[in-house]
Formats: sequence, structure tokens, C-alpha cells
Amino acid sequence: MKLTKVLAVLIGMLVLACSSAAPVPAEPTPDIDATVEAKVAQERAVDATVQAKVSGTLSASEAKTPSTTQAACKLTGGETVQSGWTGEDTGNNSCNSCFCTDGVLGCTKMACPAHLALSRDCSLDNQYCNSEGGDETSTRLIGLGWNKPTSVQTTYLRTSDLSDDSVRVVEDGIRAGEDYLGSYGPLRVYVIGTDVEAAHIVAMDFCSWAYGGVNGDNYEYCLESDQGVEIREIAEYAGSNAFAQHSRELETPNQSFVIGNPLQFESGLGSRIAIHEYVHIYQNANKVDENDFGLPLWLEEGSAEFLALYLSQEEGWADFRMAMAEALESAKDLQERHPGIGIQDIETSESRDALQSICDCTGMLQYETGQWATAWLVNRTSLDIFYKSYIPDIVDLGGHGSFEKHFGLTVQEFYGEFDEFMSSSTGNQLAILPIP
Ligand SMILES: [Zn+2]
Repeated sequence: MKLTKVLAVLIGMLVLACSSAAPVPAEPTPDIDATVEAKVAQERAVDATVQAKVSGTLSASEAKTPSTTQAACKLTGGETVQSGWTGEDTGNNSCNSCFCTDGVLGCTKMACPAHLALSRDCSLDNQYCNSEGGDETSTRLIGLGWNKPTSVQTTYLRTSDLSDDSVRVVEDGIRAGEDYLGSYGPLRVYVIGTDVEAAHIVAMDFCSWAYGGVNGDNYEYCLESDQGVEIREIAEYAGSNAFAQHSRELETPNQSFVIGNPLQFESGLGSRIAIHEYVHIYQNANKVDENDFGLPLWLEEGSAEFLALYLSQEEGWADFRMAMAEALESAKDLQERHPGIGIQDIETSESRDALQSICDCTGMLQYETGQWATAWLVNRTSLDIFYKSYIPDIVDLGGHGSFEKHFGLTVQEFYGEFDEFMSSSTGNQLAILPIP
């Protein structure tokens, strides 16, 4: 079977597994880590694709490197495997199963939160790790206003088989996020229906937007082998998945967000997912130095979901308090099942990778427990300080510096305080929640 075919089938299975809109056929589950992730809540599955894209893009660009006579593949962590090899990837992508075919590494696309895109390169070759390179990128991005609100309005594109209603669901969510956080990007949002030819046309726009025009170096590759394929697959499988793209390297950097038709979700959920993803756009706008600590991994998802729920409550799309109470129950249940394991174990993607082999708990630590870590920090300060001071100040002060400045304690000290909080009574815990 051709690689693309294998990938398509795998992705198809994942998309089916992720969709709760339609009954999932009782097929034998593929024996891959991905299915574990696929069992989690729908919005998490959507988000998983987004995260996976980060490492997916990196793997893909590596596959482009002309292979020598040896049809070997290089794993994400830098190891070389021979053609025909099957197994788990390493490094940032170690939660995915891969196979090597003739120099091309194909992998499942589940969430291995790619905390630092460059950290992988660092492990391969130290020349990418010197601070000069990082400073240069930071200076360039800051000079281009990457971390500042843009006056360019977010644009929306949909496939021709969808109506404006589909776009409106996403637009409502993005707008709620923009109203609170400000407009970052420039951002273009793509909503994909089920017409593959229409999706191809949208994919052409995406590849041009995200890769510097139709004459850009990676335009064709994007269209035929990378996200273009993924966009067409969303249409082919009526996928509910989504991904984001942060094109920092462009002369005029921009961001994009692609999502399957949100009308297939229960009412309100499509908009809530859009807010969650918009928080990631915002987090990435405030990430200029890949070598900095930045947001600890346990805050990336937790803070995205916390704000999505909070703003959704204001819009009538979700019950913030109920959702947080449910998250608390799950987080406490996890704590009972795995005493001694906590968010401190998933501070970076490397530590998360190590934990992955010990328990099936990294997703819940990132989401449910991370939502409560966010709640604790918001309660210590305020919603505005958390989102509008702590996150943007990471650019100038670094992840640790901004954390200490705004929360008045080190990340290490926070772990102790949070541990104590998590072992107090449910009543005390729920009492810290802000009221939207
Ligand atoms: Zn997310």
C-alpha cells in the first residue's frame, strides 16, 4: 500500500474515532497510542490535531530532504531507522506510531504537545541552540509586531458546499476571543465541508497564505504532501478535526486555523472550540523565543480551555462552573489513581514524553488539571492579569520571569501550593472560581 494511502486510512480511522457526532462503528481499534488519545473528549481530539500539526510539519519538512541511496528515515529525536521499520517515534513526537518507507517517515498525527519546535533541533545539532539564533528570531518577530495586536481583520474562507451558518459558528467564537484578548495574526480561518474539490480550492488559498504565495518555496509541497492533503481529508472523511498554523518564518508572518464543519457539533461547542484555538493563536503570538521556558506545558491547554469555558458562559455556549466541577472531579480521580504524579511531571514535552510510558494520564494533566492550575493562578491574581499581563510579558521577561513577577512565586513554589490546594475539600476548591 502506498504511504499516502496508509496515512489516509490511519487518519480516517482517527477521524472516525474522534467523532462523537456519529456512532462509531465497532471496528477493531488500531493498536497505536493514538487510539488512547482518540478516546478523550471531542474538543480535545480536535485540539490534538492542532498540536500534532506542529510536529507533523517538522517531520514532513524533514522527509523532503533528498534521501541518499539508503532509504532510511530519521526519527524526530534524531535516530535513524531503516525502510520497513515500524514503531514509536522519538523526541517531541514520541506519542505517535510511525513507519519508514523509502526514506519517508509516516506517522499518526495525534497530540504530542510540541512545546518547543526548536528543542528537537537542539538535540540534533547544537548550532541551532545558541542564544544568538534565538535572539535574532525574537528581534525580527518583535520588529514585525508579531506579539502585538494587528489592525488587519481576521478573514474567513469556507468551502463552497457550506453555508455562511457554518462560518458564523466559528466566527462567533473567534470574535469572543478577539474581543477579550485583542486581534492577533493576521489570522485567516478556513472552514471545511465535505466536497473534496471545493476543499482543494480552499487548500490552494491556505498553502499560499501560510507559505508566502503561490511562488513560495513550500507551496507545492503544502498542497500535494502536507496540509493541503489534510484539508482534503477533512472533506473526504467529514472530519471534525482542526489544526492551526503559525507561520513565523514568513517575511510578513501570519497565523491560520482550519476546522471541519462546526455545525456537526452540539450547539455552542463549535464556537467554544474556536475560542480555545484562538487562545493558542494568542499564546503563539506571545512566543518569540523558542528556547525560552515560555508557558509551562501544563498551562498551554489548561489556560486555553479555561478561557474558552469562561467566555462561552458569557455567550451562553457552555456552563463554566459545571464544566470546571467535572474537570475537578477528573483531576482528583487521577490524583487518587496516580498519587505522586502531577503537573510538575509535564513541564516540558521531554518530561511529558517520559511520563507517557508510565501512565495514561498526560492528557488529563494538561487539560483538567491544567484548567485548575489556571483557576488557582487566576484566583491569586485576576483573569486580566493572567491573560493580559502574564502571557504577554513572557516576551520580555521570559517564562519564569513573568511567572514570578505576576504570581509572586516561582514555578517550583507553585507546585507545592497547588498540591496542597488539590488535596483540600471540593467546596473550598470550587469557591475559588471566578464568576463570568
Ligand atoms: Zn488546545
